[in-house]
Amino acid sequence: MRPIAVYPGSFDPPTNGHLDIILRATHLFPKVIVAITDNANKYPTFPLKDRLKMLRESTKHISSVQVEFFSGLLVNYLKKKKATVIIRGLRAISDFEYEFQMALMNRKLNKGIETVFLMPDEAYTYISSSLINEVSRLGGNIKDLVPHSVEMLMKKKKKGV
Ligand code: ADP
Repeated sequence: MRPIAVYPGSFDPPTNGHLDIILRATHLFPKVIVAITDNANKYPTFPLKDRLKMLRESTKHISSVQVEFFSGLLVNYLKKKKATVIIRGLRAISDFEYEFQMALMNRKLNKGIETVFLMPDEAYTYISSSLINEVSRLGGNIKDLVPHSVEMLMKKKKKGV
């Protein structure tokens, strides 16, 4: 039986890099749960419900993807979902140290869980949610960097609608 995979992250906001990783994961696993972290300590730019909406909208055409949010320990969430694989994206060497630490900690907490790292198309390697927020705030064009629903919501937010 092929395992269920969970792709956790802040997705604040979701970008085309995230979408690329989600698609790649669906080619490997029968079900991919995109799990948005409900981590108030991170002071997110977008409330959880907006991030949920943007991700659901941009993945609605992929039937094997489910979008949810979670709080608490990731390994406990995986257990609840009967999932055994964590998906993470690697853009550059700079991601490696933190990701390596997290993967080993999760393995320590639950030996039955494997972290699988996927690389996005090189066109997306420089994209991060924080940079998207910064460019958008300063009036730059983010059209080719985020899914359409994200672009629309960010535009609305800027206009204060
Ligand atoms: P977190 O706060 O958990 O790092 P992010 O939403 O920033 O949440 O990232 C979630 C995962 O997606 C991480 O593994 C990150 O490396 C990966 N990721 C973020 N941006 C990209 C991108 N442009 N291409 C590929 N992976 C990415």
